[in-house]
Amino acid sequence: MRVAYPVSFENGIYALPAELRIKHGLSLLRALISSSGEKPRNLREWIINTFGEEVAKDHLIPYNEKIRKRPLEQISADWAYIPGRLPLPSLEDIVKAIAGLPTVGYREQAVFHYPRKGGIVEQWKAAYRRAEELGVKFLQMEVREVKKVGSEFLINGVVKADKVISTLPLREAPAIFGLSEESFSATERLDYNSVVVVGVGLNGPAPKQHWIYVPDRRVPFHRYAWISNYGEDLPPNKSALIAEITVPPSERVDVDALKHETVRWLMELGIVREKDIAVVAAWFHKYGYPIYTLTHSKDVQTIEGKLREAEVITFGRWGNWQYWNTDKIFEMAQKSLPWS
Ligand SMILES: Cc1cc2nc3c(=O)[nH]c(=O)nc-3n(C[C@H](O)[C@H](O)[C@H](O)COP(=O)(O)OP(=O)(O)OC[C@H]3O[C@@H](n4cnc5c(N)ncnc54)[C@H](O)[C@@H]3O)c2cc1C
Repeated sequence: MRVAYPVSFENGIYALPAELRIKHGLSLLRALISSSGEKPRNLREWIINTFGEEVAKDHLIPYNEKIRKRPLEQISADWAYIPGRLPLPSLEDIVKAIAGLPTVGYREQAVFHYPRKGGIVEQWKAAYRRAEELGVKFLQMEVREVKKVGSEFLINGVVKADKVISTLPLREAPAIFGLSEESFSATERLDYNSVVVVGVGLNGPAPKQHWIYVPDRRVPFHRYAWISNYGEDLPPNKSALIAEITVPPSERVDVDALKHETVRWLMELGIVREKDIAVVAAWFHKYGYPIYTLTHSKDVQTIEGKLREAEVITFGRWGNWQYWNTDKIFEMAQKSLPWS
């Protein structure tokens, strides 16, 4: 069954048939009433405590197992548990959803704005142009070594800098910055999933949808998005979607096989028709999603501490090894980095 999914699960409940509204509504209500406020030991416990057994079993556990590809008992709930980090169901919204009335929930995430032309990357292109105007030089080289020489940094043996703000993945930082043994063992414990993105260009319009979560374990992708609805770049009768498949670092990736499997499932689910497909492509991203192991926050603190001692500022989704999205990164870059 497909349900409108305005970010928070509970806001999609109103669209379900009455029996399921009651089942999932009761699940949320029971969880809310019996909440002890105690910190959950792992992600599985957080899901069950927050959303109740039925919502957990029917949706959130299969979805999370699928995207994370790890037993949820081995994943820390730190990220999800931070108060205010995620929208949580309110009593009023749950009751309305059971009655079959639409709810908005977390307003910050109910409406999204995208650049009309060029897509979300235009935001970063504008930031890039602004940085250039302010005198930032983009070196376009892979950083392999950073050494402190006197009060300066020497990058790759050729570029001098008086300050370093690093966005490179924390896992790679100890080798590049020459950190101690302790940071090497902490980085080895940092876990992540890679992601394969399959893009499909279609002849024909897109439905009025943005992104859709797919908890069904048989289907390889956990989410697909009609990216042609995120701007006005395509002519009216063309559309494009992307689907994402996570891959743990221990697994061999066959991008081509995943591409074919994804297209097969998109057709099987009636999302695309073979005759409309104009182009298919797939991309592999080594770093897709950080995984919150049970030692995550201690390990991150250890490496960040060593980098602080080396006077390096580490920043970003991979620079801080946190499950942060574009909005959070943009806001933090504006507010917390020392720009002068
Ligand atoms: C498949 C996928 C789907 C996503 N979906 C969403 C979404 O729906 N919504 C959302 O808000 N966010 C989404 N994100 C996350 C979003 O892309 C990130 O949160 C955001 O880009 C993080 O910004 P960042 O600057 O921290 O890291 P990045 O954008 O990863 O930037 C880090 C930069 O450091 C550079 N770098 C790394 N190592 C080196 C080196 N040794 N030398 C030189 N340069 C180096 C990289 O090339 C990169 O340019 C998604 C990410 C992926 C991969």
